[in-house]
This record gives sequence, structure tokens and C-alpha cells, in this order.
Amino acid sequence: MTAEELFSPQGPLAQEAPDFESRPQQARMAAAVQSALERGGDLVVEAGTGIGKSLAYLLPGALWAASGGRRLQVSTHTRALQEQIMERELPTVARVLRRLGHPLSYAMLMGADNYLCVRRLERLAQSPEFFPDSATFLLRELAVWAKTADTGQRTRLPQLVPQSLWRRICRDPELCLGMGRRGTAQCGRCLYRCDRDRAEKAQVLVVNHALLLSAARLPQSDALVVDEAHTIPEVAAGHFGVIVTPGRFLRLADETAALARRVAMAGGDADGSLAEAQRCAGLCAQEGPLFLRAVASRHGFSERAAEPGGKLLEGPAQGVEPESLAGLEGSLAEVRHLCSDLEDESEAHALQLRVVALRKDLRELFETGSLDTARWVEWFPFGQQDRSESGRLPRGFGFELRAVPLDVSERLSEKLLGPGIPVVMTSATRASGRGLGEFKAQVGMAGASELALDSPFDYRSQAALLILADGPEPSDEAAYAEAVAQRCCDIIPRVPGGVFVLFSSWKMLRRVHGLIKGRIKGRPLWVQGVSGNEALLSDFISAGNAVLLGVDTFWQGVDVPGAALSCVILTKLPFPNFASPIEEARRRWHESFDRSYFECWSLPRAVMKLRQGFGRLIRSAADRGAVVVLDPRILHKRYGETFLEALPPCRRLSTMEELSRFFSGGKPGKRRAKLPR
Ligand code: SF4
Repeated sequence: MTAEELFSPQGPLAQEAPDFESRPQQARMAAAVQSALERGGDLVVEAGTGIGKSLAYLLPGALWAASGGRRLQVSTHTRALQEQIMERELPTVARVLRRLGHPLSYAMLMGADNYLCVRRLERLAQSPEFFPDSATFLLRELAVWAKTADTGQRTRLPQLVPQSLWRRICRDPELCLGMGRRGTAQCGRCLYRCDRDRAEKAQVLVVNHALLLSAARLPQSDALVVDEAHTIPEVAAGHFGVIVTPGRFLRLADETAALARRVAMAGGDADGSLAEAQRCAGLCAQEGPLFLRAVASRHGFSERAAEPGGKLLEGPAQGVEPESLAGLEGSLAEVRHLCSDLEDESEAHALQLRVVALRKDLRELFETGSLDTARWVEWFPFGQQDRSESGRLPRGFGFELRAVPLDVSERLSEKLLGPGIPVVMTSATRASGRGLGEFKAQVGMAGASELALDSPFDYRSQAALLILADGPEPSDEAAYAEAVAQRCCDIIPRVPGGVFVLFSSWKMLRRVHGLIKGRIKGRPLWVQGVSGNEALLSDFISAGNAVLLGVDTFWQGVDVPGAALSCVILTKLPFPNFASPIEEARRRWHESFDRSYFECWSLPRAVMKLRQGFGRLIRSAADRGAVVVLDPRILHKRYGETFLEALPPCRRLSTMEELSRFFSGGKPGKRRAKLPR
């Protein structure tokens, strides 16, 4: 059956999904996906908001898989989309396929640490280690539950398990005895094996980008669809990069000490090696965080800092690692020889491998000669508010060392295109307004066909754009914050529904919040970070007229249909932070090729992000609302035109009075809250 037939107003999808609306863009995307799968080609699709892109690839993809004995793998960035696909879209697709005589099986697979390991659970539940009563009780309850459960997914456990305990009972690939005979003999009924078996049999397998890029052996697939593809370069940079945090030292120390205690309790410590391992673990727990702090201090960190900061790494001053790491590695080798049981020995070996990996990462971090990797140290205050606002100093600082490759195209191409199966990448916003070429080059898919589909929404009647360009420029931070605060106080009372105010930096967000709190009357005013993002969003939707001040996360991937989001105020044009170490490394890297960092990276990123921010406003055909831009540079600078050309064509407003009339003329409160299918 062709894609056009599948998505026709009388087709099988229309009969199985009562809220189905026929959209030409959705059918076009489905036809392009079907053709790519059938001819074995690669495809990049920009699918504007509201097209219903998930069904546009899932339905033809699942039909292709189920009718030909194949497997389609789908990868998403967010858990929310994974769950939407598993809970809403794949059941619909399965009903359509059943109608066509093709039963469909589907499953989801996540990263290793999302699964319970029954072997580790049982060992810990029986361990003589000291735990609080509540933890012992929880472990025993879980062990009983695991005897009859058919999944080891953390989200399906009957109780919440604290992260510190979960680390010790989740599946650890370095400790896993495997899905083969050895694992079966040693582990009995492995719940991860149940999940894995379902994945092996599934015709559609849903994974996430992190797992897709990891070294984990996934069931072989015949085609791959990458949704939320705009995030894949960043996920890849993180995956191919290195991060060293105090937590890595502390966890190693903690687990080594626990193992040494356990081995000593089982067989004694005749030559003192186990006591020595505990001593090395203690040293490592002390020296690791101090080492990171010393690196930060050498790069300009000061105790008096109130803001997060960072600096590109210079070569090492005195060695690239704390001395205790070599001692810890040697000690673990000794512990390994003393282990009488196979489980302890494999744990000692896994810990030893983790020390080796940490030492390798530290060496990699200080190889500062090459320009194609950004290597930097970062510090961030925690505990108290910014001193500039509250007069209080932060309670403490976190430190980390990071390295990320600046160009992941070759590695991505090798990983995704290497197996030679058709690959489809799609997202709502990937183009920066200048076509898909830049994105294709970034992900190593320069040869792929491309398709850009506009949103089916009628932006001219649904959306309005107001640019207020008579204020100060963002470079004058204090004056700009005052102006933004004043504008917010003028705009918000004119909007009957909810308002997002989106910022490019926490510092400006806090400043403006400090200036407007107490001045916004009759509606809730929330700031990102006061609670988890999902809870905050759910409160925002329930309130219907709240104001939410947000940064990065709220520019993209947030879906608030209906009147609960009627106005989006975009403060500063979202250029990447030029002063951050990674952007400095990027600038040096581009300049080493005689390329303009601004033209090739900074401007396209900012344009894409502005489009994403704008995209939060209209989420259904019945939505209506306004975007207000408060950065005068969009009108006064030459590059401003690039931003304006990239936004959807909508009604332009010139004054605040027109904004009031826009809202009083429409009935934003009557809109339907409906998600696109
Ligand atoms: S096979 Fe691996 S995940 Fe399963 S119980 Fe054994 S060690 Fe744990």
C-alpha cells in the first residue's frame, strides 16, 4: 500500500485514529520515507511543527518492516518522545497494520543503567554490609518482586530506588555475565534478558540517541530513523568526549572500599593488602576533588566568584592526575588476586578498568596541542543565589574537566551510515533558514536526499510578531535588564493567557526576575529551576495564565497547546555564549580553516534557536498567539534580516496597542488543547 493511500482521508489510518486530520505535508513525508526505505537511500527531512512527523515515518516504516520480515530502529533524544511513540503512536500503527493483515511487534531498549540486575540485587540484599534499615528492607522487597517480574526497567519497579543504591543494583556492562550460557548458569532468571529478548523479536525497536551511539550491541536493524535529529551532533560530541567530575573519584573510592571490606570479611586480610586498598580509596576520594579544584584555580577560579565560569585548559603544571590513582590501580590488582569468589573478582576487575579509563581520560584532557577538540575546566556555584542579586555568597563550587570534539561528522557517518542500511533523519527545526546543507554536513550525511516541509499551521492568521527595538542593546547589561523588565511589566497584563519569557543566560534571567517579582499581579510567576521541568510545565499548563522565565530547555521541545501559552517573549537573540571556553575553542578551530566563526557557526545556531523559540507558540491548528522580540539588533544590525527571513510568515505588529488589540480581538482562551497526530 502506498503512503498516499495509508494517509488518505478514507485510508486505514483515518479509520483507526478517530482524531486523524488529513495533511498533505504528512503524506508527502510518509511517501519520501517509504521511497527511501524501498530504494535503500538516506533522507533528511525538516518537518515543520504540526505535520505529525512521528506517524509519517512510523506507519510506512512499520509496514515496510512487518511485511518484509525486517526491523526498523527508531531513535529519539528525549524520554518524553520515546514514551509518546510507545504509548500513543505505535499502538495506532499496530492497529492499522493488523487491519492490513500484518501483526506488528515493537519494543523499547534503554541504556544499561536503566535496568535492574537481579544478580547484583541478590548479592547486595544478602550482603553483610551495613545499610540503613529502610535500604535493607527495600532491597529485600525488590528481590521478592524480581522473582515474578517480566521487565527490569527502572521505571517499572514497584518502588522508587535512591540513586546511590540504584548504582549498585543496576546493570553494569562491565560486570554483566552476559546473555550467553555463562550468564544463564550464574544468574538464573535475568530480567534484562526478558527485555532484550523482546527487543530481539521486535519489528520496530525504539532506542535513544545515547544508546544508539554507545558501544552497546543492539539488535541488528534494516533501517534507522533518527527523530529529534537536531540534537544528535551535541549528543555525539558528549558521547565521543570526556568528562571528569569529583563524582568519578568518589564513586571509585566508595566502591573499592566496600569491595575490600567485603573480601576481608569473607577471608581475612593476612598481608594487609585489603587495608591498603581501603587507604588508597580514601586518598583518592580526598585528592580527586582537590585536584580538580587546583586545576580550576590555576585557570582563574577564585573563591570570590559568584558566577559559573570556565577556561580552556593549558598544559599540566604538575602531572595530569592525582598521585593516588596509580596506587588505587595497583591495589585493585592485589584485591583481585585475593578474591575467592568469581563475583568479587569480576567486580575488582571492573573497578580496575574504570581506574584505567579515568587515567586515560585525564591524559586526553591535557593533550592541549590539537585545535579540533575543546578541552576546558568549568566551575559552578551551588547552594545560594547569585551574590549580585542577594548579597549572599555561594555555599560551594562544583568543578569538572571536559573535552569534546568540535567536528563529529566523520564519526557519526561511520557509526550511522557504516552498516549500509537506509537512514532517515528528521526534526521540526534543523535548518537555520539557509537550507539543510549545513546540517547534513554536520552529521556526515552530505549525500542524503532532503525534504523541507512547512508547518500546516496558518501562521498569518494564527500568529503575530512584535519587535520592540527602541531600547538599549544587550551589551549594556544593566540598562538592558531594566528595559526587559519594564517591557515584561507592560506586555504581560495585555496577554489573557500564559507567557514564556525566554533568556539566553541565567544571569540575565535572575536579574530580570529580581526586577519584576512583586510587579506581576494576579498570576503566578515562575522561574525555571524552582522545581523539575516537567512538574513546572504541568503547573504552567494547569494555571492557564502563568508567566514562566526560562533558559535553554524551554526554547525547544516544550509543548504547551492551547491558551496556557499565548505569548512568547524572546529577550536577547540567542547567539552562543562567545565568552564560554567551548565557543572560544570553536572560534579558534574555524579560524584555523580561514572560516568565519560568526557566519559558519554562531549566526546559524542563533537563527535555528530563535526559530525553535518561536515554534513554542503555535502547537495546534486552533492556537493563536504573539511573539515579542526585545533585542533591537534584529532591526538595527545587518544580520537581523537573516533572523527575520527564517521566521514563519505572520502578521507584524508595530505597537503595544496593536498587541492589546490582537489579544482582545481573538479568543485565545477558547482554543482547543490538542496534540498533532
Ligand atoms: S546476565 Fe547480566 S544483567 Fe542479567 S542478571 Fe546476570 S549480570 Fe545481571
